[in-house]
This record gives sequence, structure tokens and C-alpha cells, in this order.
Amino acid sequence: MKNLQIALALKQLYQMRANGYKYTNIKMPDGNKSLLNLAGSLESLCEQAKQCHLCELSKSRSKVLFGEGDSNADILFVGNAPNASDDATGKIFSGRAGEMLENMITKVLGISKNSVYYTNIVKCYPSQNRAILPIEADTCISYLHKQIENIKPKIVVTLGDEAYKYLTNSDIEISKIHGTPLKHNGYIIVPTFDLSFLLKNPSYKKDAFEDLIKIKSLLK
Ligand code: SF4
Repeated sequence: MKNLQIALALKQLYQMRANGYKYTNIKMPDGNKSLLNLAGSLESLCEQAKQCHLCELSKSRSKVLFGEGDSNADILFVGNAPNASDDATGKIFSGRAGEMLENMITKVLGISKNSVYYTNIVKCYPSQNRAILPIEADTCISYLHKQIENIKPKIVVTLGDEAYKYLTNSDIEISKIHGTPLKHNGYIIVPTFDLSFLLKNPSYKKDAFEDLIKIKSLLK
């Protein structure tokens, strides 16, 4: 949250300088009042994110990838960040990773891809698929919290270490907790593996399959 406050304070300073203020004339508001003022509905939140320049990732993106899918979904999948293919196509979880996820949803969970919702911890592509920085995740995560508040999923499936870490503030390795449901803020988090990791390490697909079976049982 501290990082978000810093990002918002910087944004305010840039805006005030653009309006002709000198930094020596600027009195900063108290910390609580400077928190990101987010739109209420999912649609207006999406519009707000499309105009967002709160962190450095706004410089490397070509599109803001807010999220897609059923806004009343019972399951919400959260990855780490859009990749180069997502940024180029404008589709979250595009390419081979997306195909694998679609197979997992349709063939293992037995539901349609359109009945779930997908998003990421950060909504903008980090150039060369670099790891996201804590300040970027902390700045962007308010959008995810608001998405969850709107969609009210029963289950949030985090894909990989980073997605779980930033949503729960826990550094535990995914290999130790994958498939273990965690009650969190009125929904259940089920951590599983990052899709690119599964593509590079197919031997872990069996573990991911078991995680999905657990998710299916939680949906009943
Ligand atoms: S990653 Fe999030 S906080 Fe950063 S510019 Fe994009 S939408 Fe804004």
C-alpha cells in the first residue's frame, strides 16, 4: 500500500507541475486521502485502467489488458502479467499458454471457457517478459481487488508464485502449497502453477491436473 501511495503522490506532482505549480508551492495531502479513487462498476473500472499511467509498465505496454470473461463467474484465474503475445494480440492468456488453460477448463473442470474470468496482477506488459517489481504489483493490485469485489467469485485460482504472493502477501513457494485451498476475504484461493512454467516443465502437469480436480470438487 505504501508503494501505491508513492505512485499516486508522484502522479499528483506531475499533474500539478503540468498545471504550472512549482514543487516548492505544493502541499501533499495526508496519506489516507491519496489512495487511488477507483470506479465502482467493472466497465468503468476497465475504462479507468485503460487511461492508467500510475507505474512504469504504462511505458512498455501497447494495450491495457484489464481482464475478460464472465463478470458473474464463479472462478477467476489470476496470472502474473500479460506477456508479449497478449500485448500484441490484446488477448489475455493468448498463444500456447491460453490453449493449455482452455483445455484445463473445458476438459478437466468440464465448463466453458466463457464461464470464467481471467486477469493478471498487473494489467500492462513488462517489456521482454521481465519479472514485475513489487512497486508495480502494489500499485496495480487495487484494480484486482475491485474486480474481485465486483465479480464475487467463489474461487480465485492463482497461477504461479507471483500471483499468489501479491494476492496474499505470502512468500511461500508454489510447489509447497499448490492445490491447498485458502479462505481469504470471503472467497477461496487455490494456488496452482504458472502456465509458462507448465509448458517448460510438462512433468508438473499431473500436479496441476490434481489441483483442478480439487477446484472442481470445491465448485459443487
Ligand atoms: S500496470 Fe496497472 S498500475 Fe501500472 S500503468 Fe498498468 S494499469 Fe496502471
